[in-house]
Amino acid sequence: VPTPIGNLADITQRAIDILAMVDVVAAEDTRHSSVLLNHLQIKANLLALHDHNEQQRADALIARVQQGQSVALISDAGTPLISDPGFHLVRAARAAGIRVVPVPGACALIAALSAAGLPSDRFSFEGFLPAKAVGRRSRLEQVREDGRTLIYYEAPHRLLESLADMRDVFGADRQAVLGRELTKTFETLKGLPLGELHDWVAADSNQQRGECVILIAG
Ligand code: SAM
Repeated sequence: VPTPIGNLADITQRAIDILAMVDVVAAEDTRHSSVLLNHLQIKANLLALHDHNEQQRADALIARVQQGQSVALISDAGTPLISDPGFHLVRAARAAGIRVVPVPGACALIAALSAAGLPSDRFSFEGFLPAKAVGRRSRLEQVREDGRTLIYYEAPHRLLESLADMRDVFGADRQAVLGRELTKTFETLKGLPLGELHDWVAADSNQQRGECVILIAG
């Protein structure tokens, strides 16, 4: 079940109904999610499911479903499994013959793509780049000739270094769009060639804060 990526009004009615109805809500961070559930006035039975306990928790959740309970999976923001936990649980549930129902909703990469003005007929979601420069550059080089729009998630403290590497690998003239703080008060969607985009972010420390998606023309 997707949750908002900033603007709380982005939760769907179906998501609210399901979260209110299920026996268990598996959440990446139960403290974080209890703020949202309190806001929605939903009293849920929360259980933590994060990167460090997912494999073992998956068995316990599957056992509950086999006993007749229903389980919803949420992450801190956006759609579960999209650079968030849930893959092991979904795979194990499906392998056990359990029906897994997708509930569409907020997702930062789709929100960014829908407003970036870059070709959207074919795109590649590249997730987070490696934190170290060598790994990052080698990943970028693998897709240098890719014709599809490339979409990256990035942490604010690595935004500048990543933009510099993207400029160096893809070329300063390659068109790009930075989507920052989407759905929030300081939402920005800035489209510039990579060289100029890097310099624009470097010149304004406000652009180096908050959550961001980088889209690059193929
Ligand atoms: N599951 C989420 C989704 O569906 O988009 C993504 C989770 S991932 C751990 C978090 C990353 O998503 C952030 O570092 C940022 O790259 C991107 N992100 C999440 N919310 C965003 C927002 N409001 N604006 C821009 N990027 C966002």
